Amino acid sequence: MLEVSHVTKKYGKNIACNDVNFTLEPGSLTVLLGPNGAGKSTIMKSIIGFLKYSGSITVKDIPNKTPQARKILGYIPEMPSLYSTLTVNEHMEFIARAYKLTNYKDRIDMLLKRFELDDKKKKFGDELSKGMQQKLNLCIGLLPDPEILLLDEPLLGLDPHAIKELKNYIEEMRQSGKTLLISTHIIDSVDMLWDRTIIMQNGQVKANVTRTEIEGRGKSLEDLFFEVTEGIEKDDVSPDDKKDSGEA
Ligand code: ADP
Repeated sequence: MLEVSHVTKKYGKNIACNDVNFTLEPGSLTVLLGPNGAGKSTIMKSIIGFLKYSGSITVKDIPNKTPQARKILGYIPEMPSLYSTLTVNEHMEFIARAYKLTNYKDRIDMLLKRFELDDKKKKFGDELSKGMQQKLNLCIGLLPDPEILLLDEPLLGLDPHAIKELKNYIEEMRQSGKTLLISTHIIDSVDMLWDRTIIMQNGQVKANVTRTEIEGRGKSLEDLFFEVTEGIEKDDVSPDDKKDSGEA
């Protein structure tokens, strides 16, 4: 449904994404894992159409930068960019009108309530704490309810209630058939139900496996991550360890 094909993005001489290929199946939740600087944000920004790159990205066979594709795609950036002169409610209204949403008032109320911003509706963007800004960033991204949603490090900066609420919300979206791509560099945060993981490092896709495949190999996501990014096999025993245990 979403197809990333041979995408390369360079910033000057620095190759942020190097021939990246993957497909997101409809109704699946994919976790995009990788250390800082692996290229996760760059590939997400490329998918959403913010960057120039070489290669091709299509949504339901439609090029990602077309108006039709943009209606299907949604993106929640890692860093909120809010308007200091708009209130919380005005941000939500602004997005609703920009996306030409209809009957959106109840949805705004629902989102602001779930993320505990309902008593902050009249606060201006620059009056919000960092965590509140993150929550408003989420509410803004969730409001249009797109078919495919990319979330870049969505749990960063959130308080425990918001983390729990977002994980529940993600699971609800997954159950309702949305296609989700969630990036993170924190493996421990990936305890929600996911279908596939893509591990990136140095701009390249180093692994692309389903949950069933990993579980079938008797590995955890953490095992796979270190195997792929540091070449450490869980069952590896160094010669010294063998000597210590009398095996060598
Ligand atoms: P991640 O999201 O996995 O942490 P990024 O996609 O942000 O990684 O970054 C990948 C590489 O691209 C890094 O080397 C980073 O320094 C570089 N990079 C990202 N954004 C820019 C930019 N706007 N200008 C120059 N280099 C960038």
